[in-house]
Amino acid sequence: MKSTFIAVLVGVAVAVAAAPVITSEQIDPEINAKIRAEAENNSQIMRTMHYLTDVHGPRLTGSPNFKAAAEWTVKQMTEWGFKNGKLEPWDFVNADKSPRQGWLNERFAGHIIAPVKDSLVGEVVAWTPSTKGTIVADAVHLVPPTRPTQPELDAWIKDVTPKIKGNIVLVGAHTAVRVNVTPPALRRDDDDLRRQMDPDAPPPEAGRGGRGAGGAGRGGEPPDPTRLTAQAVNTAMNALMLSAGVAVRLNDAGRDHGQIRAFQNNTYDVTKAPPTVVLRNEDYGRISRILDNGTPVRLEFTIVNQSFPAGKSFNAVAEIPGTDKADEVVMLGGHLDSWHSATGATDNAIGCAVMMEAARILQAIGVKPRRTIRVALWGGEEQGLLGSKAYVKEHFGTAENPKPEFSKFNGYFNVDSGTGRIRGASVFGPPEAGTVLREIFKPFEDLGVMGALSTSSRRSGGTDSTSFNEAGLPGIGLSQDPIEYQTYTWHTNLDTYERIIEEDVKKSAAALASALYHLAMRDEMLPRFAKENMPAPPAPPGPGRGGLGQR
Ligand SMILES: [Zn+2]
Repeated sequence: MKSTFIAVLVGVAVAVAAAPVITSEQIDPEINAKIRAEAENNSQIMRTMHYLTDVHGPRLTGSPNFKAAAEWTVKQMTEWGFKNGKLEPWDFVNADKSPRQGWLNERFAGHIIAPVKDSLVGEVVAWTPSTKGTIVADAVHLVPPTRPTQPELDAWIKDVTPKIKGNIVLVGAHTAVRVNVTPPALRRDDDDLRRQMDPDAPPPEAGRGGRGAGGAGRGGEPPDPTRLTAQAVNTAMNALMLSAGVAVRLNDAGRDHGQIRAFQNNTYDVTKAPPTVVLRNEDYGRISRILDNGTPVRLEFTIVNQSFPAGKSFNAVAEIPGTDKADEVVMLGGHLDSWHSATGATDNAIGCAVMMEAARILQAIGVKPRRTIRVALWGGEEQGLLGSKAYVKEHFGTAENPKPEFSKFNGYFNVDSGTGRIRGASVFGPPEAGTVLREIFKPFEDLGVMGALSTSSRRSGGTDSTSFNEAGLPGIGLSQDPIEYQTYTWHTNLDTYERIIEEDVKKSAAALASALYHLAMRDEMLPRFAKENMPAPPAPPGPGRGGLGQR
């Protein structure tokens, strides 16, 4: 079955590659055919995935795992023949500029030991402390008040403090997660995408998928400033847990099928939070129901976390040097760091593996690019695009304050939406930039790439291509089939090697290798906003809305 399928696929590839593509772009069908064959027959993606996930996952910024993974990518790209491979350091610091420590969970075990004996499924919250060995204690269920005033919260804290001293505390009501009888589609519809990618299509109506227009309609009432936000109550809960000497704090994952998303203690300081675990919704529900029915519960936890000297993290870079336009650069990449509940496969080892592969394909088929092609694998994305922002600042500056490399930059492709095949692109620049990419991707419509659009938004957030947009540089974000990204794998304990669809990522690497090649070979640079048309830089975010991108 497989061999006939491949024979048909290659047959179609050659037919498609040979078919003349009507564009004003200089498309090279022979190179495209070579790219397709190399991508299909010699793919290294799943081998790269094995090392980034099974061997070096999870890759939390600041942890030894992250550094080992970054060193492995540089060594591998160098073995493939790339040049100038290195780790570029950047400052990993807290809001007060003090050096931020690295952190990793090494051991976790949780058990209910009365009234029944059973194992618990949980994930430790990052940058929280270990337990002092194995601890056993009674469980207490606390449901803090919602949007209280400060005096209301103080009274509540005074009342509950004696009840929680030295115990294990469930914080928050159990979330009733309903069975989803209308799960979202795993793949985008071609026609929908064609319409979306059509620059002449009317913009979506305000309020329906429109951005911002519905602002006023969202809830309407300005928040009552005398009432505390959920984040303020959460911070007060951590202080209460510490002052009451709580043994372990338990949070509800609030998702179905044992999914757990565990993020970080916002202070990044293990002395400012108790040992904290996110329990799967099913275990949190079981314990809170037993407690709420008046039966005492005893729990046992063993948590071993390590902190690491930090203050520095890295971006991993390597390149295929250009020839006659070697001082101009086309970049591609994705973030290498991940959260810690699984091995960070769809977020975002796969983005790194696809980008390494796209460049490897060009190297393997012997391309001599005119412009330099540079792969960049970022650290610190999950903590706010830290690595890519540091890189843009270090190398390019901004449109308002450019560095010499600013004018030599010819686009940065970014993948960061899971395993789904790429379906389209969004480039920061004038409409002409969208046209160039649309035409370059046209020969890959059979692999699912439906087009490209341009954007003039310099707002950063969401993923690393926006670090370039924010500076006024053509960042290129790639949209993908959603597959299980938002429903199962994004930042969860299910995000492992097994969630990768090899056929999809091979297609993405082939289309990207071609786009890279054609941007590296074309006479003109990718169209960019001229100084006089450059959109204004975004206003800095207000208090408490620091640039946590996180996608
Ligand atoms: Zn991501």
